Amino acid sequence: MKKYKILTTIILVIGLMMIFTSNEAKNLTKLVSNFSTLALNPNRKTEQYSICIDPGHQAKGNSETEQVGPNSGSYKAKVSSGTAGIATKKPEYELNLEASLKLKHILESRGYKVYMTRESHDVDISNKERAIFANEKKVDMVVRIHADGSDNTGVTGASILIPSKEGEYTSAIYEDSSSCAKYVNENMQNNGFKVNGVFERSDLTGFNWSQVPVVLIEMGFMSNYTEDQNMSSPQYQEKMMNSVADGLDNYFKNKK
Ligand SMILES: [Zn+2]
Repeated sequence: MKKYKILTTIILVIGLMMIFTSNEAKNLTKLVSNFSTLALNPNRKTEQYSICIDPGHQAKGNSETEQVGPNSGSYKAKVSSGTAGIATKKPEYELNLEASLKLKHILESRGYKVYMTRESHDVDISNKERAIFANEKKVDMVVRIHADGSDNTGVTGASILIPSKEGEYTSAIYEDSSSCAKYVNENMQNNGFKVNGVFERSDLTGFNWSQVPVVLIEMGFMSNYTEDQNMSSPQYQEKMMNSVADGLDNYFKNKK
């Protein structure tokens, strides 16, 4: 009798194992977990927004010129070489990409579709070309990541740049850019970052060619010893980019 009992138990266990490893069982588990995700996150985006991140500059600037806007008579260098850290000696294009890749991962984990204008340093993409790249992807927002420099080493703080309201080329994207900047500013300040303000610019090629809303974050001053060191810290970058992502979340949540 005992032998039969053991045999029955073994058959039962094998049977159960087969059921639980079957695809049907796996699909059922997936379905249940999807339902619970939806139930737990009522604010989950039903529409997927797309964002283009443009890490400013590149390994070598390109001093050839391009039009600052469509049909403009003014020309500017295709892409400048950017600034560098007073303490870290790190070139701005490196810092910009470090922070941009963090932002990319944060946004992707929150469900956004992210496009990058560059993911390496050895590229040659002008500011006009970067704007056209985002236009062609028809993204919902462009985030340009930069860092500042000043002759005055005492100057600190982040700045948010947006296309000018009265700009010849950018009035159509002003409202959305400005609204996004407002939320990013709010979230950065709430997370303890000093923000000097939101500034309208009509002279930036990367704004003037943009047909989609755009904000440019100057993360802080690489010409200030402490701020330069802070900005190179992965934890600092993560915290700042999280607050930028929070601002983007708020913008899309409140978008009409
Ligand atoms: Zn820059």
